[in-house]
Amino acid sequence: EITFFWFRRDLRLEDNVGLFFALQSKFPVVPLFIFDLAILDNLPKDDPRVGFIHESLAKINQQLEELGSAILIKKGKTQEVWGQLLQEFDVKEVYFNKDYEPYAITRDMAIVALLKSKNISSFAYKDQVIFEEKEISKSDGLPYTVYTPYKNKWLEKYNSIAPAAEYDASNTFFNFHKGHFAFPSLGQIGFEESAIKVIPHNLKNIGNYHETRDFPALDTTSHLSPHLRFGTVSIRKLVNWAARKNQVFLSELIWREFFMQILFSFPKVVSHNFKSAYDGIQWRNDEEDFKRWCSGTTGYPMVDAGMRELNATGYMHNRVRMVVASFLCKHLLINWQWGEAYFAQKLLDFELSANVGNWQWAAGTGCDAAPYFRVFNPEIQQKKFDEKGIYIRKWIPEFDLGYGAPMVDHAFARDRAIATYKAGILK
Ligand code: FAD
Repeated sequence: EITFFWFRRDLRLEDNVGLFFALQSKFPVVPLFIFDLAILDNLPKDDPRVGFIHESLAKINQQLEELGSAILIKKGKTQEVWGQLLQEFDVKEVYFNKDYEPYAITRDMAIVALLKSKNISSFAYKDQVIFEEKEISKSDGLPYTVYTPYKNKWLEKYNSIAPAAEYDASNTFFNFHKGHFAFPSLGQIGFEESAIKVIPHNLKNIGNYHETRDFPALDTTSHLSPHLRFGTVSIRKLVNWAARKNQVFLSELIWREFFMQILFSFPKVVSHNFKSAYDGIQWRNDEEDFKRWCSGTTGYPMVDAGMRELNATGYMHNRVRMVVASFLCKHLLINWQWGEAYFAQKLLDFELSANVGNWQWAAGTGCDAAPYFRVFNPEIQQKKFDEKGIYIRKWIPEFDLGYGAPMVDHAFARDRAIATYKAGILK
């Protein structure tokens, strides 16, 4: 008789709500992770995000081994894997933390129904966010679609509750199952070792975050995004700390939850404009232009440096993400969905809610988005945020030898974008 704790995007033992409650169960707990083929089959074999998951699981397994346990790793279609697990084990209970993406919601509903059909109890917890689903809503119960009032309500609620509880499971660790499960080697699971090293946390200068965060060469942002994506840090601990250290940094963590609640309340945003009035925009969608953008050869140094950083590392500084996204949608008039898909493929911190939310923001099609007539000038952005060209030279070593001409003139592209948007926006 056992209890399963099912890890998904909460890859840590520390301050893990679902795990904490699983360990209170009267049955020994078997920690489980499933490599979901429905996701993996669409990724290249050496996808760095899979590497990141491997590294995180290896770390968890090491910690579990010290406790005399180990993680059970399976690979397959999630529902089929659960079918096999229920034959293999006498399962009494299943615990997991909630995931709010549309695919995950559907998957979890199917698993919960399967468990229920076998009289197995399942328990789902909020772990990934401070406030989930509709917890931060307008007084009429409808979701916020504008960030600032959302943030104000979020802060009001956060400040009115007791400081975040710590779900410290150390006292209950003895309840782990003592059996030894094989931790399959990377080879057995079928992945090549990842080239990605876990990026060091960059929190020592966070007190100046509000002044330095926009300058890519300073590189003073936290680099926590992949950790938040895969749950290798606790959001409760981070928010608790951020609230004391820097309000602007805290407000970025609130943007994260804002876009999560937008995706939860309006799942159509994954593939449709949030503002359907923008559906009439005639995108140019030129494939050659798109290739130049992807490869970082547009002739605009700030855009090219950003895309080259992304291609080389799976990361791009936020200010530069805004510049490249605006350039794609407005200068090149390419549908934001193309850019969103490219980022989704490349970003180590790819998060559906944040990616879609920010892309729609840049395109002007999203909730609370940049106005359509605001067209970033990539050269002015460069002067403002990388005046000495330090970031640019890092990614474009040939910069000083004379850089190629821009693929499209800024003034021309700006006028064309505004005219195209104006003509396409339904009154
Ligand atoms: P910090 O500045 O240290 O911020 C701390 C954390 O706050 C981040 O790790 C992230 O979780 C959150 N955060 C910060 N800014 C935002 C934001 N604008 N929206 C939502 N959350 C935010 N972020 C992702 O995590 N995944 C994505 O797929 C993603 N796609 C983006 C696409 C575009 C076009 C743009 C403009 C931004 C995107 N962002 C995305 C938001 C932001 O660029 C990254 O979160 C940030 O650059 C990550 O670096 P950091 O951890 O050092 O950030």
